[in-house]
Amino acid sequence: MAKKILIDIEEFVKLYYIDKMFIKDIAKHYNTHREHLRLFRKKHNLPERKRFMIFSNEHKTKLKNRTRSKETRLKMSVSRKKRIREKSPNWKGGKRKHSGGYVRIQVQNHPYADDKGYVLEHRLVMEKHLNKVLLPKEIVHHINGIKSDNRIENLQLHTNSSHSKVHNPKSE
Ligand SMILES: [Zn+2]
Repeated sequence: MAKKILIDIEEFVKLYYIDKMFIKDIAKHYNTHREHLRLFRKKHNLPERKRFMIFSNEHKTKLKNRTRSKETRLKMSVSRKKRIREKSPNWKGGKRKHSGGYVRIQVQNHPYADDKGYVLEHRLVMEKHLNKVLLPKEIVHHINGIKSDNRIENLQLHTNSSHSKVHNPKSE
């Protein structure tokens, strides 16, 4: 009879994507089999780490391109432009939408994407900056209050309580 094991999804995401533990070591941690964890990962639609990292590198390139000045972008060689254009259809992160003042980007294989594959852009920018996946309890605050201004210098990482303090500095 198979022993029922409760795996906390947030803990699993931390061990697998952030601490980058091997599945076999996480299995040891939960005193279970690797196969059980693979099924858990599939059930929750969590991508394989390798595939997720491919997305990360592509997203980094995309962000780098966005921060270039207009002149620099114009100076880019035709072949380079072509290469980027050819690359973008594979990277489904090109599609953006605005909702409730926030920008969302459609990405492939993000562990916290919504059912249509969208992730909040300001969280992605912070994730790329810190080179880790943010847990749902980690909050990204817009310093100037503009929810679509997702430059890294406008973003601050907070916990729930430190975020409340930023918005209500004098409350007791
Ligand atoms: Zn805030």
